[in-house]
Amino acid sequence: MKTKSFLVIGGGIIGSAIAREILLRRLGAVTLLEKEKSFGQHASGRNSGVIHSGINQRPGTLKARLCLEGSRQLRQYCREKGVVFKECGTLVVAQNEAEKSVLQALLQMGTEAGVSGLRLIDQTELKEREPSALGIQALLSPTGAVVDSLGLLHAVAREVEQLGGHYVFSEKVIDIRGQEAATENKTYAFDHLINAAGLYSDKVAHMMGAGLGYRIIPFRGEYMAVKDLPIQSMVYQAPDLRYPFLSVHLTREVDGRVLAGPTAALALGRESYQKEIHWQETWEMCRSKQLRKLIGSREFMKLAMHNASLSLWKSSFVREIQKICPSVTANQVSAAQAGIRAQMVDENGRMVNDMMVESAGNATHILNAVSPGMTAGLAFAVHVVDHMQTHGSF
Ligand SMILES: Cc1cc2nc3c(=O)[nH]c(=O)nc-3n(C[C@H](O)[C@H](O)[C@H](O)COP(=O)(O)OP(=O)(O)OC[C@H]3O[C@@H](n4cnc5c(N)ncnc54)[C@H](O)[C@@H]3O)c2cc1C
Repeated sequence: MKTKSFLVIGGGIIGSAIAREILLRRLGAVTLLEKEKSFGQHASGRNSGVIHSGINQRPGTLKARLCLEGSRQLRQYCREKGVVFKECGTLVVAQNEAEKSVLQALLQMGTEAGVSGLRLIDQTELKEREPSALGIQALLSPTGAVVDSLGLLHAVAREVEQLGGHYVFSEKVIDIRGQEAATENKTYAFDHLINAAGLYSDKVAHMMGAGLGYRIIPFRGEYMAVKDLPIQSMVYQAPDLRYPFLSVHLTREVDGRVLAGPTAALALGRESYQKEIHWQETWEMCRSKQLRKLIGSREFMKLAMHNASLSLWKSSFVREIQKICPSVTANQVSAAQAGIRAQMVDENGRMVNDMMVESAGNATHILNAVSPGMTAGLAFAVHVVDHMQTHGSF
């Protein structure tokens, strides 16, 4: 029997985890096309590295299930493959009564989703655990951890190659017709295509007539490095549960740096990491009904303006950090990396807040792999390949 050929577009953590799963199930040969010269140039190499415990996910969603399963699988994977990670726990702090009710909601959501060890702690215990953090109460989630996200991507990619998968770099897919994907250099035939193109997943889906009502709107997540801050766990503000983004928080990375961020600023270009403007993409985004409907919401505009000010003025960013760690001064803080979230928005202007996969015929499209996509990655790959085997043809 002829070996089936799978073509994965995008060599980030999602494309790589799916390739691994296809190879582990021995479904056929896998080629991954990656437009960059090396691994981790986009979200998978530019994130906070947090292995989320699952407290921010709504019970019953795909994200809630995959975050929990993924978090367990990922830790096990890191132990087996020697990927550096650190169990440090998560604290979400409340500054007032309204935020205390957010903690209560998170406790309920997390417990329902199956997150273990969650408990509310008072100001005294918060001070003992994190003397520089401010709050009248906190939610402690002991299963939060941080990982070397680029190291993780390399480990998964190494395994893909050991299983016989093949990465081709500097190959940007520009057109797909029938059973062939064209890059600027050559044409690749496939039996089944998996679109894991992150910030360009809508464009790739549209090439095949899929996901037509959806558009990726890019949100830049900027970070500041904070020196001489002795925090040990991750410290979060109480989130606004209406949005898929968490507010600026503090994370001690595996290399010991403390990062504050990420923000969620509307980006004028899908890969505008340095705040540059990509005119063509900005023009297309502004003309889209998805953005026009999104900015029609007053609440969204408030969020957008707040994040624009964090992006433009260091003093605003510092004030944001001071909400959870009042002792931090501007002298301790300097600009660090940025990542861009690929946020799918539907034709009614609603941000899609769950993972989204569409399989039809000879293609499977990962339309929304938002945070905690890295945490969920290995479990998400199992879900995607099950979905592909049930709904796709190859
Ligand atoms: C700022 C930020 C912080 C985050 N923090 C966390 C966190 O702490 N924990 C967590 O679990 N998750 C986090 N996430 C989410 C997580 O990083 C993503 O869910 C995950 O990395 C998505 O992986 P991906 O493979 O879909 O995307 P990517 O890593 O972007 O990979 C997609 C790849 O496709 C390639 N590509 C695109 N178009 C084409 C084309 N036409 N042809 C060929 N190749 C193409 C790109 O070059 C890219 O390498 C964060 C995300 C961001 C942006």
